[in-house]
Amino acid sequence: MDIPNKVAALMPSLVADLERLVAIPSVAFPGYPAEPVERMAHETLELVRAAGFTNAELMPVPSGYPPIYAEVPGPPGSPVVMLYAHYDVQPAPESQGWTSDPWTATHKNGRIYGRGAADDKGGLVAHLGTMRVFDGQPPCTVRLILEGMEETESNLPAFVEAHPELFACDLFVICDTGNLRVAEPVFTTVLRGDVACVVTVGTLQHPLHSGVFGGPAPDAMMALARLLSTLHDDEGNVTVDGASTGVWDGADFGEDEFRASADLLDGVRLAGSGPVSRRLWARPSVNAIGVDMTSVAGSSNVLIPQARAKLSMRIVPGSDPSKELDALEAHLRSHAPWGAHVEVERTKAAPPFACRTDGPGYAAARRALEEAFGKAPGEAGNGGSIPLLRYLQNAAPEAEFLLWGVSDIAASRIHGSDESVDPAELQRMIVAQSLLLRNIASGE
Ligand SMILES: [Zn+2]
Repeated sequence: MDIPNKVAALMPSLVADLERLVAIPSVAFPGYPAEPVERMAHETLELVRAAGFTNAELMPVPSGYPPIYAEVPGPPGSPVVMLYAHYDVQPAPESQGWTSDPWTATHKNGRIYGRGAADDKGGLVAHLGTMRVFDGQPPCTVRLILEGMEETESNLPAFVEAHPELFACDLFVICDTGNLRVAEPVFTTVLRGDVACVVTVGTLQHPLHSGVFGGPAPDAMMALARLLSTLHDDEGNVTVDGASTGVWDGADFGEDEFRASADLLDGVRLAGSGPVSRRLWARPSVNAIGVDMTSVAGSSNVLIPQARAKLSMRIVPGSDPSKELDALEAHLRSHAPWGAHVEVERTKAAPPFACRTDGPGYAAARRALEEAFGKAPGEAGNGGSIPLLRYLQNAAPEAEFLLWGVSDIAASRIHGSDESVDPAELQRMIVAQSLLLRNIASGE
């Protein structure tokens, strides 16, 4: 079978399916209507059944939207590949400033715009396309899991813990990341972890008149600001003693390219030093993601006795989240100015993830990507974390993990305004996934 030709012939119908799915605002966040998410689940179920997953079902879960699960057996004894994608999407509020309707798939600049076009309805369509290439009869056993709550409090980890046998496989294919730029294939091989804490700084027993006491009596917000400023050096490198760093020798991401994809304001410099890829995937980052203090509207001439901030620190692959939190906490306790009182409450410790890249699944995938793109694949990291991976790993400890996808960091703007996918990239990824199944089945 000529896989690239077959995929090319399938593309018009796959693009039409993607357009139809983008039009369903399947936002699973609390406060959003359930009907579109449920409609999305049913439409997706019908599509996956029609693609050959004839036994696909909406799986019962104690709460939230149901994952879709299916299995198509390959020849006896053939390897088992589990395909993952999600059918829910991020919200697309007007305040994001979309230039076309997020719920209408819009073709421009050679791309398809719309919420979910890349993340992750594009990934879902890649799985449909892969099954259609084999007319629903893949050369190895294929299991499929499509979740409906990835972008919010996911119910899939609990489902995996309750039904580990459904997730037994040789290779997980997580089609939910992507390439740095179109037509240049990369595997996502490392994911930073994520720890968080709330730091509270106190300087006074109660508010004080700023005219009477201001000067000698320190206010808590200024103390907090000084404390936060000690977390970076002047260049913007994290200065937390004991926070782990790593080495990065995979693909690089140029400064200009990063700047363009992040949409920094004119004149704003990138923080930190060294290659951008190392800063992203082999260095920690610390940000204040929330602050509590008196609001501007409620302000008056008083010194503030207490202020607090929630800090999120991304941690590097190979590090231990509780040790990283120890380092952050020790830094906060030892750097407060003027003897200010500091309390630290730990709120999150999600470990990083690193993929084993020396197994047969990777070898098969490397050849598949090279053939599909005409270019040897590189390796990239991902600054985010995917907590689900740990649960999948517990369910299938020997399985390899392949993280890739149809988006490109340079232009896809997932979670932002004007999210888009390049249909040619979608096509190449379907070719790659199909070649992967063929390679795995033949033991090549
Ligand atoms: Zn996603």
